[in-house]
Amino acid sequence: METGVQPQTSASTVTGSPASVHPLRRHAGDLDFAVCDRARLSRDRAFDGVFFTAVRTTGIYCRPVCPAQPKSRNVRFYRSAAAAEADGFRPCLRCRPETAPFSPAWNGTAATVARAVRLIEAGALDRGSAETLAAALGIGARHLTRLFRQHLHATPVRVARTMRVQRAKRLLDETDIPITDIALRAGFSSIRNFNLAFAQAYGRPPSAIRRRPR
Ligand SMILES: [Zn+2]
Repeated sequence: METGVQPQTSASTVTGSPASVHPLRRHAGDLDFAVCDRARLSRDRAFDGVFFTAVRTTGIYCRPVCPAQPKSRNVRFYRSAAAAEADGFRPCLRCRPETAPFSPAWNGTAATVARAVRLIEAGALDRGSAETLAAALGIGARHLTRLFRQHLHATPVRVARTMRVQRAKRLLDETDIPITDIALRAGFSSIRNFNLAFAQAYGRPPSAIRRRPR
């Protein structure tokens, strides 16, 4: 199912909103196409981590700060890297979506999502189940999934999977740790799973990504 926000879905406006509130945070999970498009065309850092831009013509998704400036008719916007990947888009090797900040300055139910994402980043779904994670947050697993769909347009398991690949990508780029060790360090249960998930996300094996020789 495609969940990205496309031009024809932009109906709402942001006029009259208090300047202190991030325009995209006033909406629970909705993205406003016009707001996102302006933000990425001006490479507005305030939106880094708030949404991701997917480019239909290249199959790549980017941070709003990416120097690449595809035409507006070719882009759609996602709440999370996981949601863009679920629709088949690959991370940009130039702006490196895995290094985008997570923007947890949300209120209400989104605060629960922010807490859950921090726990997932710490490995909660590498070792444990979504049920255990939900229980740690004081809610049911189905409610947690509902909140994730609302705010990140992706399930907790999908977010965890993207985060594992992102961790591995950062380790590949920033360290000399052998690829076999990176798999376990990033939270994968096996090297095989690491190779599969990585190739699915990037369209090439981890060895083809490593920038410097070890
Ligand atoms: Zn990019």
